[in-house]
Amino acid sequence: MLPTIAIIGRPNVGKSTLFNRLVGKKLALVDDRPGVTRDRREGSAQLFDLKFTIVDTAGYEEDHIETLPGRMRQQTEAALVGAAGAIFVIDGRVGLTPLDQEIARWLRGTTVPIILVVNKAEGKAADNGIMEAYELGLGEPKPISAEHGEGMAELYEGLMPVI
Ligand code: GDP
Ligand code: MG
Repeated sequence: MLPTIAIIGRPNVGKSTLFNRLVGKKLALVDDRPGVTRDRREGSAQLFDLKFTIVDTAGYEEDHIETLPGRMRQQTEAALVGAAGAIFVIDGRVGLTPLDQEIARWLRGTTVPIILVVNKAEGKAADNGIMEAYELGLGEPKPISAEHGEGMAELYEGLMPVI
């Protein structure tokens, strides 16, 4: 059985875009509206020679936004059960939000290895977000662009020890 890697993060940071890139198919729905992925989705992923099962988490609807942290926590904890590692995604263009800080707090309390990824890092617009990400206490952030396929070698370095 292949190890499972969960993709975690608040809505709209690019989790489904990263999932699609690692699976190589348009299995997850990508949308500009936050929280469009309704369900947990699993796919067979490959990154260079690493093969693993990837899980895309979500399932929050805009009309339940007031309960978002509670639902996110449930989803996050469910995704971590049995996972060999988790990719925690933040949006480098937006920078850290209170929800990112809260998720980071939960993740610092888990024994599952966390790979911290700063997405949307193509160009210079994410430079501040990359610096801020060091504050999360989850190791060295890996800048990537899920949309453009940049930073995949750094992501590989993060995943290799846990797979
Ligand atoms: P999710 O809610 O975390 O699953 O995020 P999505 O994958 O649905 O993406 C949310 C938005 O961010 C979409 O408009 C994507 O096109 C955009 N996005 C995802 N990855 C990147 C990236 O690497 N760079 C930029 N600039 N936008 C991205
Ligand atoms: Mg999604």
